[in-house]
Amino acid sequence: MKREGGKIHVSAEVLDFHKKALVIDLHTDCLIASRLLGVDLGKKHRAPWGITSPWFLHADIPKLIEGGVDGVFFGIVTHPLPCGAYRRAMRNIAFAHYTIKKHSDRISLALSAEGIVHAKNRGKIAALLGVEGMHMLDGRVERISNLYNEGVRYITMAHFTSNRFAISSADPLRENARLGKQGVLAVELMNEIGMIIDVSHTHSEIVRDVCRISKSPVIASHSAVRALRPVFRNMSDEDIKSVAETGGLIGLIYASDWLSGGIKRTRLSAVVDHADHIKKVAGSDFIGLGSDWDGFIRTPRGMKDASDLPVLTQLFFERGYKPEEVENILGLNFLRVFRQVESSSKKRKESA
Ligand SMILES: [Zn+2]
Repeated sequence: MKREGGKIHVSAEVLDFHKKALVIDLHTDCLIASRLLGVDLGKKHRAPWGITSPWFLHADIPKLIEGGVDGVFFGIVTHPLPCGAYRRAMRNIAFAHYTIKKHSDRISLALSAEGIVHAKNRGKIAALLGVEGMHMLDGRVERISNLYNEGVRYITMAHFTSNRFAISSADPLRENARLGKQGVLAVELMNEIGMIIDVSHTHSEIVRDVCRISKSPVIASHSAVRALRPVFRNMSDEDIKSVAETGGLIGLIYASDWLSGGIKRTRLSAVVDHADHIKKVAGSDFIGLGSDWDGFIRTPRGMKDASDLPVLTQLFFERGYKPEEVENILGLNFLRVFRQVESSSKKRKESA
């Protein structure tokens, strides 16, 4: 492994492999800074002088292109207060559509697995929408269908707070949490209409219940592993097995605090350590990418932002991953999940 000035060198072969592969990121929060601070996603942004590890400015369109990203889920995020959250979510979704249209020369909305492939074939980044937290339903399960009709393709069961449908991993009253009747209804409706269920930020007991009743694959869009960094936000081995049993996957998060903690930013190889653990517990078919770029995270040393992503592919090869495993982790595993969610929803519709 060659390192020039601390930077990991990406070989020409690996760079070529990475550019050809279908690369899908399952959670990027770049719309937050765009909406609140007016950051133009069409331009490449640099942090002000002296700031080496900003908490955002990781992903704009030029950086995503440079990093070989072909598909990206834009997180739809609101603050956790339940009152009026649905209205705020709809406003944020409208902003997402406005942003995607504004940059239609380089990105285009994708509503299906085929839509992602189609966008790549046309040389564009597929933009998808994921809602982070069911507090945005304001307690009404049928709004899941409205979100689907607005182009949303996954919903995270909980965010920083618990809601009517699910308990958050951050909830202080989390002992003996179970999925209630409303949560069951939400899972059933998502299975029926083909909305992907996301259990990042969700309490372990709820993850198990959701995976047990879901008839479609379940994802954790942006998470790390609790065995390597024991913290509430991360996935236990049982969570990982539960998700894998549905045929779903865990998107690797690039947040130093969840990967290793400590004052210093983590080494990039920590991301591969977490992948290794998921591989050991469940297999490499159940791993994807879920950066959490721009989600107020501290990115690992060696991969400051989206433009550096090929470095991660280089590290996977150096760790002994086979080319088809790397290809699967970069995007094909998620494509399989998305197709399964779509087809099982169609089957259910036909048999109804
Ligand atoms: Zn999150």
